[in-house]
Amino acid sequence: MATRREFLAASSASLVAARIRPSARTVARADGVAPEPGWFDRPMRWAQLTLVENDPGRYDRQFWLDYFARLHADGACLSAGGVVAYYPTKIPLHHRSAWMGNADPFGDLFAGCRRLGMAVIARTDPHAVHQDVYDAHPDWIAVDAEGQKRRHWASPELWVTCALGPYNFEFMTAVHKEIASSYAVDGIFSNRWSGSGMCYCEHCRRNFRAATGFELPRTTDVRDAARRAHFEWQQDRLFELWRRWDREIRAMNPRARFIANSGGGALSPLDMRTIGELSDILFADRQARRGATPIWVNGKSAKEYRAALGSKPIGGIFSVGVEEPYRWKDSVQADAEVRMWVAEGTANGMRPWFTKFSATLYDTRWLATVEQIYAWHYRAERYLRNVRPLARVGLVYSQQTATFYGGERARERVEDHTLGVYQALVEARVPFEMVHDRLLDRDHLQAFALLVLPNIACLSNAQCDELRAFVRAGGSLIATLETSLYDEHGARRSDFGLADLFGVRFDGRIEGPMQNSYLRLERDGATGAFHPLLAGLEEAPRIINGVRRVDVTPVVGAAVPLTLIPSYPDLPMEMVYPRLEKTDRGQLFAREIGRGRIVYFPWDIDRTFWEVMAPDHGRLLANAVRWAANEEPPVTVTGPGVLDVTIWRQQESLTVHLVNLTNPMAMRGPIRELIPLPAQRVHIRLPEGGAAKRVHLLVGDRAPAVDRAPGYVDVTVPAILDHEVVAVDL
Ligand SMILES: [Zn+2]
Repeated sequence: MATRREFLAASSASLVAARIRPSARTVARADGVAPEPGWFDRPMRWAQLTLVENDPGRYDRQFWLDYFARLHADGACLSAGGVVAYYPTKIPLHHRSAWMGNADPFGDLFAGCRRLGMAVIARTDPHAVHQDVYDAHPDWIAVDAEGQKRRHWASPELWVTCALGPYNFEFMTAVHKEIASSYAVDGIFSNRWSGSGMCYCEHCRRNFRAATGFELPRTTDVRDAARRAHFEWQQDRLFELWRRWDREIRAMNPRARFIANSGGGALSPLDMRTIGELSDILFADRQARRGATPIWVNGKSAKEYRAALGSKPIGGIFSVGVEEPYRWKDSVQADAEVRMWVAEGTANGMRPWFTKFSATLYDTRWLATVEQIYAWHYRAERYLRNVRPLARVGLVYSQQTATFYGGERARERVEDHTLGVYQALVEARVPFEMVHDRLLDRDHLQAFALLVLPNIACLSNAQCDELRAFVRAGGSLIATLETSLYDEHGARRSDFGLADLFGVRFDGRIEGPMQNSYLRLERDGATGAFHPLLAGLEEAPRIINGVRRVDVTPVVGAAVPLTLIPSYPDLPMEMVYPRLEKTDRGQLFAREIGRGRIVYFPWDIDRTFWEVMAPDHGRLLANAVRWAANEEPPVTVTGPGVLDVTIWRQQESLTVHLVNLTNPMAMRGPIRELIPLPAQRVHIRLPEGGAAKRVHLLVGDRAPAVDRAPGYVDVTVPAILDHEVVAVDL
C-alpha cells in the first residue's frame, strides 16, 4: 500500500492544484481516507517526456519542469518501467537504465511535477526485453508462425514479448505494483501492452486450446472457426489483463488507474464498448499524419473515443516530429502542421498532450509552437471544458463489420465508406458525432435526429431492433450498400435486417466493380418536381454512378429520385454508347415513417466519394443529411472555404469551433502555410430558453459584429487563420 505520507503528499499536491486553477471542479479529500472522487477531469493540458535510456544524468531536468510550468501543463506522463526502468526497481530482470547509477530519474521528475501541481501518470512499455530475460524465461518471448522466437524488428539485441502469457500477467503485474506502491502516481499508462501480432508460444498454444479446444489458427480468414475463436479469446485475455493491472494498481492507491494505450475506430482491434466501460480517462495516440491523411483525422479520433467514453476526459497525443513509416522520432514538424493538428483535436473536444521522445533535444523549433498553443488553451480553458456536443447527426462505426465483413480488406470495404461520409459532412459544415454500433440504446441516441450508416454491413437482430426503436421515436436514418445484410458474425442474411425501414427487398445480387455506369435524375410522377435530395442537380439529366451496387426491389411506396443507367463499354471509343438509356431500377429510396425519414442508397456513394470526390456525390450526401435530419441545424456557417464546424455546450456558455481546412496540404503532406479565410456568417440557434449575453471570439480575442433575434445570434467572423472559436455566454 502507499504510505500515508505519500498519499497525503499526493492529496495536498492536488489541493494546491485545485487552488491555483479556478476552473478545477474536483476537490481532493483532505482526510486521506476515501479516494479523491476522480482526478481525471482536472488536467486540461498534458506533457509527456519519454526518456531514452541514456537520458539519466545527461538531460536538464529543470529545463523541462520550467517548460511544463510555462505551458500551464497540469498533467504529466513520465517514463517509469518495462523495457527500461528509470527508478531503483528491486524486481529481478527489470532492466535499470545503464546510465542512472544510484539515482531515481523517474522519482525526481515525479516530485518536480507534483510541486507544479500536476497530475502524474507513469509510463511503462512491456513489448520488448533484454537478453537476460530471454535466458531466464525463454517462454516469455513471442513466437512467430514458423516457431521462431521473435527478435525485435528495430532493436535486434532485444526480444519481443508475448502479451498474453506470464510475462505480462506476472512480471509486468509486479512492475506495476512496485511503481504504484513506491510513488503515489495517478495512474499507469502502458504503451504497446497488447502484443505485436499473432503469437504461437507455448503459453498461447496451451491456453488457447484449454479455452476453446482449437489449435492456434494459421489463417487470417475470419470465416475460419479457430480464427474467430482466437479473436474472441485474445480480447478476453487482454481485458482480463487490463482488469488485473487496474485492480492491483487501485489496491495500492485507490485514486490511480491502469490506462491502456488502446482504442480507436472501426479498424481498432479491442472492443470500444468494453474500453469505454473500463476507462475513467483515455488518450488517443494519434501523433501525426502520414501519407494521404486528411487533417480532420485527429478530430475523427476524438469522436470515435467519445462515442465509447461519453463525457469522460479524452486526451489527444500529438508528436512534434515527422512520422511516416520511417519514424524520424527526433524530428520537428512545421509550426503550421502542429497548430492545425492540435486545433482539430481541440475543436473536437480532445485535450492536448504533447509527446517528446528523448529528453535531450536535437531540434528545439517546436518548443515555442507548443507553448503558444498551450498558452491560448489555458486562457480559453473555461470555454474548452465542454459538457456535451450539440451535434444532431451521428455517424455510426462498427468494429464487428470491420472484423467479420471487412477482414483483410476492411480499409476499403468498411473504413473508406466512413471516410467518404466524413469528408462530405465536413464540406457541408454539418456538426456531427460518431456513434459506436454496440451503443445504440436510447440513452446513447437521444441527442440525435439522424444516424448515418455507411455500409454498416454486420448488425445483429438486436441492433436492428434498436435502430427501429430510434426511428419509431422520430429519428431518421441514411444507409448505404450492404448495411444490415449480414448478422453480427458476418453471416449473410436472405434479406436486409433493416428491409422494413429501407422499404426494399434484397434481390440476391451484388454488382461491381462497375465501369462507366450512371444515374438518371427522375422527376416526381405526380408533381413533376425534383425531390429535395436532388437540390442543385436539377440541370443534370444524369450523374456518375458508384462502383458497387446491390440489386433491390421496392416493396413499399417511396420516392425514387435516381434510377440506374447500367454499365456500358468504355473502350474502344466507338463502342461507348449506352445500351439502355433508362431503366426502372431505383438507386435511391426516400420515405417517411412517422416523424422519421429514411434514405437508402443501394450503392457505394460514400466509398466512391472518398475515392473519386465527385462534387455531385458530395452534394447528394449533403442533401440527404439536410432532408433526413428534417430540422433546422444548431449552427449554419456561410462563406467560402472548407471548415470543420463543431458546436458545444459548457456549463454557462456555448461555443462554435471553426477550423480552417482550406489549404492545398489539407489532405496530404505537411501544412507549411496558414491561409486566412475571409469573413464567415455564423448563424447559431440558441438552446431552449437560452439568451445570449456576451459574444466573443476566443482566438481573435475581440467582440465580433452580432445580430440578435429571439432564439438566435448571427455572428460575423471577420477572418480565420487556423482556428476560431465563437463563444456565447448564456
Ligand atoms: Zn504467446
